[in-house]
Amino acid sequence: MAVLVTGGAGYIGSHTVAALLERGESIVILDNLQQGHREAVLGGTLYEGDLRDPAILDRIFTENSIDAVIHFAANSLVGESMQLPGKYYHNNVYGTLCLLEKMQEHGVKRIVFSSTAATYGEPENVPIDEHDRTLPTNAYGETKLAMEKMMKWFDIAHGIKWISLRYFNAAGAHESGKIGEDHNPETHLIPIVLQAALGQRPHISVFGDDYATPDGTCIRDYIHVSDLADAHVLAVDKLRSGSDSAVYNLGNGQGFSVKEVIDIARQVTGRDIPAVIEARRAGDPAKLVASSQRARTELGWNPVRSKLEDIIASAWSWHLHHPNGYSK
Ligand code: UDP
Repeated sequence: MAVLVTGGAGYIGSHTVAALLERGESIVILDNLQQGHREAVLGGTLYEGDLRDPAILDRIFTENSIDAVIHFAANSLVGESMQLPGKYYHNNVYGTLCLLEKMQEHGVKRIVFSSTAATYGEPENVPIDEHDRTLPTNAYGETKLAMEKMMKWFDIAHGIKWISLRYFNAAGAHESGKIGEDHNPETHLIPIVLQAALGQRPHISVFGDDYATPDGTCIRDYIHVSDLADAHVLAVDKLRSGSDSAVYNLGNGQGFSVKEVIDIARQVTGRDIPAVIEARRAGDPAKLVASSQRARTELGWNPVRSKLEDIIASAWSWHLHHPNGYSK
């Protein structure tokens, strides 16, 4: 039996493919390579194509014995989603509908879903747990919530079991040094801070220092990408063992402000990293910190790369050795 990984050439997808390979799973990857990188796929069979193309899904499901899908393929930028919500509804929501319909048609009954803390919006409680209100403040989070709700109804109607993993802020790189974060354009805090450390950018722009947090900058819960990858493997195991559908938060349970991240990056890299305060970015909640107790208890998930210094050091090693990402 094989696992289909949609978006397996992307950042978290490629690290999950690596984790699946490490334990000998057969893997099929579907990626349109718009954001993903062919070089990031360390093994398995890559189909280059789009979720919204029914022909390629038919080919994948008939040419391979797939018993579970891990679904990453999506657009995932908060800022862009506020400018281009239609793009997010089309690729994310309609793309997921195409996938679920083909899963139903081909009798595939398990899906692990790449979701996000952005489904919560401004939290009612911190740390956030899975029972808390979901009221996204940006179109990206709204589309991910819509995708979760779609899976709920495909479960009720067709028995497709789903586990949704709501990640907080993914960061870091694989310990092999072969894969890491490479978005174009880059919008995420840690890679941008490290590009400033490398002198590829003149400074890091801090988006707002007037939030209701101790230093006025936004607080996030940073989690190592390989710890996230491990959770996907555990979720596939759980669905294979006959588990019911579920939602799990994935984070370390500790928040760091933008200013704290920059300070730790200065210590880790030993470089000067100029910072400039700018306006808030639309759609950003002030503070997102996870309670991942449910994932620990029910999935047996145990993040082992939790220290922010170590997460930033692993990202720094990737950026130092791959200053232009995957491109030569
Ligand atoms: N951020 C920032 N400058 C940047 C990029 C991000 O100040 O150049 C802030 C952003 O406003 C947010 C935090 O860093 O508060 C994390 O943003 P990121 O885009 O990495 O992840 P998100 O929380 O949007 O998933």
